[in-house]
Amino acid sequence: AQLINMGDGGSELEYKLVVLGAGGVGKSALTIRLVTENFLEEYDPTIEDSYRKSMIIDEQNALLDILDTAGQEEFSSMQDQWMREGKGFLLVYTITSRATFDELLQLYEKIQRAKEGEKVPIVLVGNKCDLVNQRDVPEEDGNELAAQWGCPFFETSAKERINHERCFVECVREIRRIGENGPIGGSTGKKRCTIL
Ligand code: GDP
Ligand code: MG
Repeated sequence: AQLINMGDGGSELEYKLVVLGAGGVGKSALTIRLVTENFLEEYDPTIEDSYRKSMIIDEQNALLDILDTAGQEEFSSMQDQWMREGKGFLLVYTITSRATFDELLQLYEKIQRAKEGEKVPIVLVGNKCDLVNQRDVPEEDGNELAAQWGCPFFETSAKERINHERCFVECVREIRRIGENGPIGGSTGKKRCTIL
């Protein structure tokens, strides 16, 4: 996270989040819902854009800089760039498609490789949980994968506003938590070593 001087004595930490997952899982819908409070009905798989939103999280200002990704070309230089620059990652599947869940395994490996073994702040997100009768991934499978990765997990609905803010908030908390305890992401490094 990066410290931004607000010029009024206050300051706001910036958090670079990256939203990842297969096409059509609701990455854009979740992002747009958070930033504008609207539900994105139409589906354009090609738009990749970043959005900013100010929030107060645990009584601390946070400026979320969210990259809503599109397209997962294997060797895109874009992908390398955002993997390097991203501080927190939302890995999104839709509970209506097993394939989108399975695809996250590869993405996860890729992030781990890019970050060279550093602990990476991640949140696992099972979107479209409003579509209960089209469910293809049991909630238990999400829980299990998150336990394996050691990260938070939420089933969300961008449409019905279920956990749609929570997943982003927890990603910021993960960045703060891991940044404070480990070598990455700490805003100042102040808490990095404790002398007893
Ligand atoms: P992306 O490719 O991951 O960015 O997917 P989009 O955000 O564009 O969503 C793909 C389609 O799924 C769109 O038609 C959205 O309206 C729809 N969608 C996204 N989130 C939800 C959700 O939580 N529930 C339902 N029922 N539909 C959703
Ligand atoms: Mg999209």
